[in-house]
Amino acid sequence: MTGPLNESTRLEPPAPRSPARPIRENVVRLDPAVRRELQDAEVLLARRQAEDALRQRNRELALLNRACQAFSATLDLDRVLAAILEEVRYLMDIAACSVWLINRETGELVCHEATGPQNEIVRGWRLAPGEGLAGWVAQNNQSLIAPDTQADERHLKDVDQLTGLVLRSILSVPLRAKQHVIGVLQVSDIDVDRFKPEDLTLMESLAAMAAIAIENARLYAEEQQRAAALARALEQQQELDRLKNEFIRNVSHELRTPLALIYGYAELLDDGGLGELQPDQREPVSVIARRTRMLHKMVDDLMIILETEAQAPQRKPLNLADLVRELLADFQIAVQQAGLTLVAELSPNLPKVPGDIESLRRVLDNLLGNALKFTPPGGQITVRLWAEGPAVMLEVADTGIGIPPDQLERIFERFYQVDGSTTRRYGGTGLGLALVKEIIEAHGGKVGVESNEGRGSTFTLTFPIAGG
Ligand code: ADP
Repeated sequence: MTGPLNESTRLEPPAPRSPARPIRENVVRLDPAVRRELQDAEVLLARRQAEDALRQRNRELALLNRACQAFSATLDLDRVLAAILEEVRYLMDIAACSVWLINRETGELVCHEATGPQNEIVRGWRLAPGEGLAGWVAQNNQSLIAPDTQADERHLKDVDQLTGLVLRSILSVPLRAKQHVIGVLQVSDIDVDRFKPEDLTLMESLAAMAAIAIENARLYAEEQQRAAALARALEQQQELDRLKNEFIRNVSHELRTPLALIYGYAELLDDGGLGELQPDQREPVSVIARRTRMLHKMVDDLMIILETEAQAPQRKPLNLADLVRELLADFQIAVQQAGLTLVAELSPNLPKVPGDIESLRRVLDNLLGNALKFTPPGGQITVRLWAEGPAVMLEVADTGIGIPPDQLERIFERFYQVDGSTTRRYGGTGLGLALVKEIIEAHGGKVGVESNEGRGSTFTLTFPIAGG
């Protein structure tokens, strides 16, 4: 090129994406003014190319930002997939697009969503591992551009035959979550050589976000399923519990009357009320009376636990100090016979608490009974009553054998006894503390225990002053 450049050559730089013309090698032969103009044109061209690239990048970023917002707007997998296809359509003018996900059980690649003509045929299509272009991408964890599917052996021709649409160009990128391929995002077009490396970069960025959205939606769906399964299991468990309690209630109810009769006669026999017993009859009759008493109490306690559980006790304002005094009087003789001291520390003028007197009498009876049973002679039982904030506190403390720390939680379970062996020293049914807990909680209160082995135990009850 030797002659002067015409106006249009100088003013119209080449199209942005085409490479710069080889101007430099000719510049040496031109006069300085023309050379300067050419150099200016070269600079202008480079600047425009840079500006174009920047604009394109900005546009892509804006699109990816839009896609990111669309993906994070829902945790529903179908909606996420629909949003992905929508965004791809927005980004590119293409004939078809599909999202394929790997089935974790079979390893097959299954088409979950597709747009384009005959998409209903493609949706649900299953590819064996490695099959077709999408299968290749999933298996090799690598993106690909197939500029002409007719010349690519990996392309599955059956799909085109079924849809009646020959897709000549395909761009396929893996969907990766935590380094694993979970599926493939694929776009196709009827033109040959439709996709450029820039399209691939853009699709890979989109796929990275899409994969996270898909994985989140899957995890959410799994969590939902787990929660639903748990709710069902809980419902079944509650139903079983209800049936079991109903059964125990019925059996206990049937046992109660005959047992009361047997218990009454056994006591009468034991006391000699039905005539003097022979010396060799005394011990067996006393065993019968003792065991029947225990059985009678067990059935009684069970019935009360189940009744308290089923319906809240009727509560009226009551003076706890009066109830404590009444129980202390009942226990006085037994405490003396056991060689123990009974101490009461009752704060004066305590507010009344809403309570069911019968139930609370049982509570105190059980706690004092345990303190008496588990405290060796010479020990002390202390009952304290005081107000603390919006509650009245009641404490039954003993200097008895104590409870091992690892058993403290368990003693409130039904039928639980620290020494559950058949040869245990202390009698009982293991229902007393379960009953205490059930009744106190039904009163809106709390039960606590502190204990030191060999030093004693303290049971603390919290009674809310206002009915809860
Ligand atoms: P039980 O009929 O056996 O007394 P409870 O439910 O009242 O049943 O108590 C459960 C277990 O908790 C008892 O068997 C005993 O091992 C332990 N326990 C309860 N109260 C005391 C206490 N004051 N001192 C030591 N151990 C206790």
